[in-house]
Amino acid sequence: MPTNQTFVIVGASLAGAKAAETLRDEGFGGRVVLIGEEDARPYERPPLSKGYLRGEKGFDAVAVHSADFYDAHDIDLRTSTSVTALEVGSSEVTLDSGERLGYDRLLLATGATPRRLSIPGAELAGVHYLRSLVDADELRQAITAESRVVVIGAGWIGAEAAASARRLGAEVAMVELASVPLERVLGPLVGAIYRDLHIEHGVQLHLGVGVDSLRGTGSVEEVCLSDGSLLPADVVVVGIGVIPRVELAQAAGLELDNGIVVDEHLAASAPGVFAAGDVANAFHPRYGTRVRLEHWSAALNQGPVAAKNMLGDPTAYDRLPYFFSDQYDLGMEYRGWAPIWDQVVFRGDPATREFIAFWIRDGRVRAAMNANIWDAGEPIEALLLSGLPIDLVRLADPDESLAALAVPAKD
Ligand code: NAP
Repeated sequence: MPTNQTFVIVGASLAGAKAAETLRDEGFGGRVVLIGEEDARPYERPPLSKGYLRGEKGFDAVAVHSADFYDAHDIDLRTSTSVTALEVGSSEVTLDSGERLGYDRLLLATGATPRRLSIPGAELAGVHYLRSLVDADELRQAITAESRVVVIGAGWIGAEAAASARRLGAEVAMVELASVPLERVLGPLVGAIYRDLHIEHGVQLHLGVGVDSLRGTGSVEEVCLSDGSLLPADVVVVGIGVIPRVELAQAAGLELDNGIVVDEHLAASAPGVFAAGDVANAFHPRYGTRVRLEHWSAALNQGPVAAKNMLGDPTAYDRLPYFFSDQYDLGMEYRGWAPIWDQVVFRGDPATREFIAFWIRDGRVRAAMNANIWDAGEPIEALLLSGLPIDLVRLADPDESLAALAVPAKD
């Protein structure tokens, strides 16, 4: 498919790189420009709080493609390059070099940026965020077996970084406003499993408490909590959520609402402009509402879907949300979307750390998490996709086939 068209992708991360790959796989013969601020080629972020942070994996193991992929596929990868302006009227982006680049299609995969702490002492040396490769390299340098690490926020970054720091032998305290780790997504019951897991592995947990200030001379020495406790610290890791990076889209006048608003084809409110990954608040046909997914799997799969739509092949993004987490010896996969639920049903004993948890709403399974059980993914997915009303007693019974529950009962 030779063409003189130019497709520009802003954001050389997983979503952007997979979109570029798909454009070539689908036979697009025009120019593909993939622009990223960081100086590394596109890489995956999940290992940054796990194996990469612990020094068990190097860069090549986390890179999306091999170093020669981009040249081999005639993808013009511009690293260390920022896009400073977007003009949707003239279909042009401006780069920090001043170069203006016209596009026929544009994909915004600008991701998200860590929410910053805004308390006294937040700018002290020794305070780390964990989003980029550079962040992970700096944190890896900072954590030693002698470190006293205080993690602020027991969300995914906090919980995984705490587990990695313990594995590196550091002393770790974790502070969280909620009553258990990971409460917003998992709720109090499943969050309590993670609370106990971290306590068992020697993390000092401070739950239901905020952080008032950080103190130190030059670099951080102490974390002052709202209950008056003082935690000694030479490394602080802040994981208090992320904010979608919408600056370009906002200045260009695109419709925004908790990210860039896109339809099920990932098309934004200006012609020829698409968005994918953490920044995209996409209409999800399965849920009948917009859902912004800050998950690795959304970046992985939305990039290719955006590419198909850029090529004029209408493709809806309707996959089930999916993410995974590994902390100590507890590995899990979570499928579905359950912003609210009526109850959580367990199959297997959570105390054994081998179980499946199901989030139930209006008699149907909305999301499920298999913990240290690795053959349940397919039936869980079938169950979620079936949308069938569920018999909770059978759901909780490990002797009942999950696959059978995903099939309508015969009269
Ligand atoms: P997160 O998972 O959204 O968790 C942030 C945590 O910080 C929440 O518990 C939040 O509480 C709490 N918090 C918010 N504001 C706070 C404040 N001012 N002081 C103290 N605590 C505060 O975000 P994250 O852990 O920073 O992770 C960043 C992104 O990376 C997320 O999109 C996450 O999904 C992703 N990530 C995913 C994985 C995975 O899938 N395994 C691993 C690492 C990172 P509330 O919930 O009450 O706001």
